[in-house]
Amino acid sequence: MVEQIRLGRTELKVNPIGLGANAVGGHNIFPNMNDEMGKGVVRTALEQGINFLDTAFLYGQGRSEELIGEVIRERGGREKVVVATKAMDNKPTALKEAVESSLKRLQTDYIDLFYIHYPDAETPKDEAVGALKKLKDEGKIRAIGLSNFSIEQLREANKDGYVDVVQDGYNLLKRDKEKDILPYAKEHGISFVPYVPLASGLLAGKYTKETTFSDALRANHPMFQGETFVANLEKVERLREIANAKQVEVAHIVLAWYLTRDAIDALIPGAKQPEQVANNLRTLSVHLSQEEVDRIDRMFQA
Ligand code: NAP
Repeated sequence: MVEQIRLGRTELKVNPIGLGANAVGGHNIFPNMNDEMGKGVVRTALEQGINFLDTAFLYGQGRSEELIGEVIRERGGREKVVVATKAMDNKPTALKEAVESSLKRLQTDYIDLFYIHYPDAETPKDEAVGALKKLKDEGKIRAIGLSNFSIEQLREANKDGYVDVVQDGYNLLKRDKEKDILPYAKEHGISFVPYVPLASGLLAGKYTKETTFSDALRANHPMFQGETFVANLEKVERLREIANAKQVEVAHIVLAWYLTRDAIDALIPGAKQPEQVANNLRTLSVHLSQEEVDRIDRMFQA
């Protein structure tokens, strides 16, 4: 039985290793996936004790939410799962509608964590969060999240202290959020959920210079191009010694390191195969000494 932790100051209790579900039903992002493969990933996650599922309307225009809803319904035990989803439109009326339609797709009457996926240019941030606070008071959502907000936008959005969780891009190869968002989250009791924690697989330690990528996400990303790709692979290779000594894989060391950071309670690595889901759970057996934590920190300073 995995020990569950509290997400920030919310009432949500999660296994620190969750599942990022943008490949589940997200065939617009990952064309090589199909519905059954996605459902297999979610089933394995729940069977193995993962209870924190991260989805969004954007992943397959609602398909990811539908598939997750189907798997939770078929297994029963809705109350054991912490479902996070996201909406794009920030306007208060649109957020209310978005929550209602996510509830339908997920076949549930509450959403554990609801994020604004991206800030828009027009809506005052505190008004958008105010709309989510109303939905929280009504019991439709249990926690309020923001994603991809700059520090200035986050300050405005959290004027009344209602923000529970912030999700943003952060990994060992991309640490700019350490400058402002992470300290702000720590100071305000906000839980920070890093997305793309494995740098889309690059930090799993399995790619080589010869690896090619069929999805546009990686094929066009600067991190995977030419000299930058080679330099990144060399950095990742330095983790192999620590991983070997602990008889785990590089991915487990990387994920375990994040869990030592202030304000980070839980992770949502993505997976396209059930084996990857099960494998990522091995992170929970890794203990990093302070010396190792500092060493990894230094290895990945810009
Ligand atoms: P990620 O977690 O950095 O990488 C996931 C990929 O790494 C997998 O698809 C798989 O790719 C590989 N992988 C995973 N576990 C592995 C293992 N144990 N061994 C070897 N390879 C492994 O990237 P991500 O899935 O794009 O991001 C995670 C989650 O963050 C998403 O699912 C989504 O929920 C969220 N997200 C949010 C936003 C936002 O704007 N809020 C943006 C992006 C993502 P291969 O099998 O193809 O190698």
